[in-house]
Amino acid sequence: MELKDKIRSIPDYPEKGVMFRDITTLLKDAEGLVDAVDQMQKKLEGLEFDLVLGPESRGFIFGMPIAYNLKKGFIPIRKKGKLPAEVVSKEYSLEYGTATIEMHMDAVKPGQKVVIVDDLLATGGTAKAIVDMVESVGAEVVSLNFLIELGFLKGRDVLEGYKVETVIHY
Ligand code: 5GP
Repeated sequence: MELKDKIRSIPDYPEKGVMFRDITTLLKDAEGLVDAVDQMQKKLEGLEFDLVLGPESRGFIFGMPIAYNLKKGFIPIRKKGKLPAEVVSKEYSLEYGTATIEMHMDAVKPGQKVVIVDDLLATGGTAKAIVDMVESVGAEVVSLNFLIELGFLKGRDVLEGYKVETVIHY
């Protein structure tokens, strides 16, 4: 069974007209989980970097095992108001309204090289907000790695000039 076949598609979630790609069916499959992490990790072979950054909450699921396997630190990117120490914030646009993500101010040092890991690239809005936050503290994004890419939403265009790696395409 292919990795893609282990992802469940839910029509009209979270709203009408959206086909949600549900990774929980892949996560519960022991072979699928190993395969997904391995394939994402493979795309980082030979790349020099210091840290893995993953956004809440599915970015934690894939970012953590990759950081652990490659012996890198992991930095959680969280929704507004969840981190206890001083933060840097970035507000970004959603289809309706805005969202704000945060990272601890001292999490990434100027000059460090980071990799951003998340489950899915859609419009690229979340990823671009993280890139902006990383660059605002003087660090560099050397790769953005996603398990799934929704190509028709053109997230790659928003991330033009950056290395973007994905495993499964819709
Ligand atoms: P973007 O900011 O690229 O538009 O949206 C990507 C973010 O939304 C990711 O953090 C991802 O977890 C979430 N997301 C959007 N659509 C889906 C989907 O169909 N399936 C899953 N698993 N996550 C989604």
